[in-house]
Amino acid sequence: MSQKVIPVADLRHLQSLPTIPAVFEAPTGLLGDMLGRPLRDLRISVTDRCNFRCVYCMPKQVFDKDYAYLPHSALLSFEEILRIAQIFVAHGVEKIRLTGGEPLLRKNLERLIEQLARLETPEGRPLDLTLTTNGALLAKKAQSLKDAGLKRVTVSLDSLDDATFKRMNDVDFPVSDVLNGIDVAHTVGLGPIKVNMVVKGGMNDQEILPMARHFKGSPFILRFIEYMDVGASNGWKMDEVIPSGEVVRRISAEMPLIEVAANYTGETAGRWRYADGSGEVGMISSVTQAFCHNCTRARLSTEGKLYTCLFARSGHDLRALLRNGHSDADIAGAVSHLWRARGDRYSELRTAQTDVTTPEAPRVEMSYIGG
Ligand code: SAM
Ligand code: SF4
Ligand code: SF4
Repeated sequence: MSQKVIPVADLRHLQSLPTIPAVFEAPTGLLGDMLGRPLRDLRISVTDRCNFRCVYCMPKQVFDKDYAYLPHSALLSFEEILRIAQIFVAHGVEKIRLTGGEPLLRKNLERLIEQLARLETPEGRPLDLTLTTNGALLAKKAQSLKDAGLKRVTVSLDSLDDATFKRMNDVDFPVSDVLNGIDVAHTVGLGPIKVNMVVKGGMNDQEILPMARHFKGSPFILRFIEYMDVGASNGWKMDEVIPSGEVVRRISAEMPLIEVAANYTGETAGRWRYADGSGEVGMISSVTQAFCHNCTRARLSTEGKLYTCLFARSGHDLRALLRNGHSDADIAGAVSHLWRARGDRYSELRTAQTDVTTPEAPRVEMSYIGG
């Protein structure tokens, strides 16, 4: 009999009210944290709901019909998201990624994209505005997303084999619809498109080679993500992680790969190109080769809490500041105070731990703060 997994605590309620410093300078775009890392990326979760139940993210036993999703009134409105985004851009954010849950489930998302697409960095450059999706609604929405000003998309796809994919998404969703979504997005110009495959040992690692063969020589960049211990409900075990080194070894045995330098500091994926010149693949080694030292990312939850690390146990309630009538200058001051105090480097510490299977306390879910 399968056992119901119940999260130890609902961590969405753990929060703190950000401090607004008495004296603060206007944003300069040069904010650094305690480890000297600038603030460059903002991931915004626009919904905590999803039409998939990926076993590593929103397992059905937890995210069932009784799960308490956020009520609409708790969600940040588009106006609130835009205000926060503007403040972050003034602080140096150059890239905004919309995520979730499944971002394409948020009604009228194009309206938000239209407004975000108008933002510019202090130097007058447009933002790198992108979105991560499971692809289910992509074919239908690609054109309107492009028209609204979205630059590109990243699509998650864990297998080319229907039986394996359906076992992973757990809602019987077929591979062909995701592939079609990728093609339509490419046709309308939402590229370069990256395809993310989470590799879970014993579940879809036999799909590493078929996925590599399929995307080799295509316009799409396939990236392999190590299965991570995010959240408190996926029952993560270290022995289900297939290290990126092993993925490279398996692909190289058939299609030799050569390591390439990163495009920019802080790039999450290690880059490898095929020796025969037919494109490249990425390796996101979040578990075996942590990249915290270059982590320039902040995350905004669906209800407006700021997380300075994917593995944080509590968020900072920016929505309370917005709804309590604080000015942009106050909120900018609170954000700089928080970022300056940031010392998060969870994955590097986990890598150094001897027993990685027993994190000391549960963490907030990925579907809530976005991947
Ligand atoms: N629903 C969208 C999607 O799946 O692309 C966006 C949100 S999802 C949380 C963002 C990314 O996180 C996806 O690429 C997903 O595969 C990845 N992800 C979720 N849980 C993960 C885990 N435990 N380990 C590694 N990656 C994970
Ligand atoms: Fe949904 Fe994305 Fe999580 Fe899968 S990974 S359950 S598609 S939010
Ligand atoms: Fe960034 Fe935290 Fe991930 Fe390290 S563990 S890379 S600090 S989000």
